[in-house]
Amino acid sequence: MSEFLPFTRPHIDEAAIAAVGEVLRSGWITSGPRMQEFERQLSVYFGDRPVRTFNSGTCTMEIALRIAGIGPGDEVITTPISWVATSNVILEVGATPVFADIDPVTRNIDLDKVEAAITPRTKAIIPVDLSGLPVDRDRLYAIAAKHKLRVVEDAAQAIGAKWNGKRIGSFGDLVSFSFQANKNLTTTEGGCLVLNNEDEACLAEKYRLQGVTRSGFDGMEVDVLGGKFNMTDVAAVIGLNQLAQLDATTTRRHALVKHYFATFGADFERETGAQLPVKDFRNTNWHMFQIVLPQSAVRAEFMAKMKARNIGCGVHYPPIHLFKLYRARGFKEGMFPVAERVGRRIVSLPLFPMMSEADVERVVGAVREVLCLA
Ligand SMILES: *Cc1c(COP(=O)(O)O)cnc(C)c1O
Repeated sequence: MSEFLPFTRPHIDEAAIAAVGEVLRSGWITSGPRMQEFERQLSVYFGDRPVRTFNSGTCTMEIALRIAGIGPGDEVITTPISWVATSNVILEVGATPVFADIDPVTRNIDLDKVEAAITPRTKAIIPVDLSGLPVDRDRLYAIAAKHKLRVVEDAAQAIGAKWNGKRIGSFGDLVSFSFQANKNLTTTEGGCLVLNNEDEACLAEKYRLQGVTRSGFDGMEVDVLGGKFNMTDVAAVIGLNQLAQLDATTTRRHALVKHYFATFGADFERETGAQLPVKDFRNTNWHMFQIVLPQSAVRAEFMAKMKARNIGCGVHYPPIHLFKLYRARGFKEGMFPVAERVGRRIVSLPLFPMMSEADVERVVGAVREVLCLA
């Protein structure tokens, strides 16, 4: 039997491993010159906007909300289909998460539902680009401008994605990326925040490290409550190595996804009742290749049968509002029907740059077998 194919796998090359060794031998292993160089190159990548790095793509969003002045009494609108971090950060700053249902085709937040959810207490929107398929930025920012809302883009999955030819992160309000192990660009764990100006960048630095600034009495002052969120130089050199390869790995993802679509064939959806992702090769970075199983399928059984064929699948994500923590805040079944239907049946199939075309064919063969012969 063929080797186990995981749903994703980071590509760490020998140059990255050597670079890590070099930092470890250098005598300076925490935040330092490599982190600064990574921030400089990210800033260039994002059209010269200010960028600061962090140790996760969760604290980036929490800090973005703090920079936007969001706290108790404020409502923040987001999607129920995301990693739970997206709404946990709203709770973390003491604000109130408000969910808007998703669009069944894009599986991203439905901007009509966002508009309908706006109240006088709404202060911000956190859109999520699921799988790296961008939320409509034109419409999003038109809504934000009309209602005077801040936007914290949870672009955790969207590095390398574009909107109308412009890189996600190179425009917009506060844009957050994650460099967690499974993301298109990884630093093992980490993240970055693209900011609007140097004042925000300065505030981001304070929130990142105990609120400390290098001025004031005894050359150090603390005037806001910050935490401990800095990225190490060890992580930063991995990021520098990955950033240099990002265009190539994104191109490879596109080629594999084209092969997925070609191998599934034009009739797959009609034959099985399953739903393929939006066939977009202009904007998406293809962070994941997600299908929605037919009504008749039970996801756990589907995944077990795929595993028996030595293929790993992922679940991204169960609806956030149905987790206990959120149910305890009054959310319940039936509130966001599209998210509930999609969340119950969405499956991420293997997709990572080092996969082969033959792997894609093996996955498609197994999916067809499991869905049609079940
Ligand atoms: C990965 C991810 C996060 C969180 O990033 P971490 O780096 O794991 O903290 C947030 N939102 C989405 C949509 C993600 O995919």
